[in-house]
Amino acid sequence: MNVYDSQRMADILSPFGYALTEEPEQADIAILNTCHIREKAEQKVHSDLGRLRSHKVASVANGRNMIIAVGGCVGQAEGEEIIRQAPYVDMVFGPQTYHRLPEMLANVMRNSDKKRGPGRGVVDTEFPTEVKFDFLPETTESRSSAYVSVQEGCDKFCTFCVVPYTRGAEYSRPVESIVKEVKHLVKLGAMEITLLGQNVNAYHGEAPASSHAASKVWGLSQLIHELAEIDGLERIRYTTSHPRDMGQDLIDAHGAVPKLMPFLHLPVQSGSDRILEAMNRKHSADDYLKVIERLRKSCPEIAFSSDFIVGFPGETDEDHKNTLKLINDVNYAQAYSFKYSIRPGTPAGLMDKQVPESVKSERLQELQELVNTQQLAFNKNTVGTTQKVLLDRTGKFEGQLIGRTAFMQSVYVLESKHLFGQMVDVKIESGYANSISGVIPSDKCLQLTA
Ligand code: SAH
Ligand code: SF4
Repeated sequence: MNVYDSQRMADILSPFGYALTEEPEQADIAILNTCHIREKAEQKVHSDLGRLRSHKVASVANGRNMIIAVGGCVGQAEGEEIIRQAPYVDMVFGPQTYHRLPEMLANVMRNSDKKRGPGRGVVDTEFPTEVKFDFLPETTESRSSAYVSVQEGCDKFCTFCVVPYTRGAEYSRPVESIVKEVKHLVKLGAMEITLLGQNVNAYHGEAPASSHAASKVWGLSQLIHELAEIDGLERIRYTTSHPRDMGQDLIDAHGAVPKLMPFLHLPVQSGSDRILEAMNRKHSADDYLKVIERLRKSCPEIAFSSDFIVGFPGETDEDHKNTLKLINDVNYAQAYSFKYSIRPGTPAGLMDKQVPESVKSERLQELQELVNTQQLAFNKNTVGTTQKVLLDRTGKFEGQLIGRTAFMQSVYVLESKHLFGQMVDVKIESGYANSISGVIPSDKCLQLTA
């Protein structure tokens, strides 16, 4: 979601003459779009700020200024405190106020004076009544795989999580505004769209005016069916989902909509019912496994990924074993796993029986070894098959491109530079821990280069 938000910030600033640069020391304005989800992400902000400070000092010495801004969830959570600790920061804002960037920038400029150096900082961490999406200009950036935020915020209050406090209450964009944005992105060349939300499958947006359905609110499955009608759009994905909101209509969509990719990121966090309850997830391990089973029934080839937290307060060896058991039961194509870290203001931070770091590290290693084995097996399983791959990134080597299969595997192909941004068939030759590689059948290459 931060990738999407960063792009939108660039879109807002572009009419004012700003363009993206690859060289931070050249920037007139540097925006750190930050993440507060885990302690490590937050620490990174402070070290990055130190680096930007030296660029700013050099800039000012050369008679220019560099405006430094902290946006995103660290901005939201820490607000004024950031400027108190780092007075060279000019601007702090949260994820719900970035549409006001031009106004904030004008205020910073009014406050500052080159001769006196930086001026008073501007802080805007409100949760405004207006909706930022209504103020964002259309993007001009063309990408073959693009993100679209459809839902933001969260009302679930898992006890470990800061999202409800930093992103605010749940909000779903109206269907019409999403369809308009997706059509625009497809016109610019997007073939794949990933619908984003902290709880994307809790989506419940205002139905289009033309809808004859009795309900004036559409769920995610209706939105997906509508988007699947758009010519030129070939792939639809959505992330991140909560197991509790995986309704039968959405499960059925996986079997009914060919454009909906057979891959789902469905975080479970733990396989222990005791821990799931303490996390306030409001479902059991068995409920989760049943959802997985129903999804496999609807779309037999579907592959899964998940998020796991190890070392949640009170987690015992037995709880950890239950998580490993769940991983064995599901058999994931990939997964993200994290050591629990205390987040300010969250109930779990105040719980007894915090787990020692050394135990968290051991459990994380054990869990990751298991997931890696499953991921390697999944990747090796595709060897010898032909996969449709959307080549949307360049690799390290001359002529190398990287893309994704329908199952979200990263695929490396050589001699393919001319196919950037295209969907091609790739014959998979090797499977590794984190990726696969293959070749594009030569007749296709000849066809496209002829
Ligand atoms: N809405 C998604 C999760 C979004 S946060 C869901 O409900 O599953 C992304 C991931 O960060 C979470 O799934 C969780 O695994 C991890 N995470 C969140 N808070 C954390 C914390 N305090 N410590 C460690 N990991 C955390
Ligand atoms: Fe955080 Fe996800 Fe729980 Fe919401 S549902 S509180 S975003 S982990």
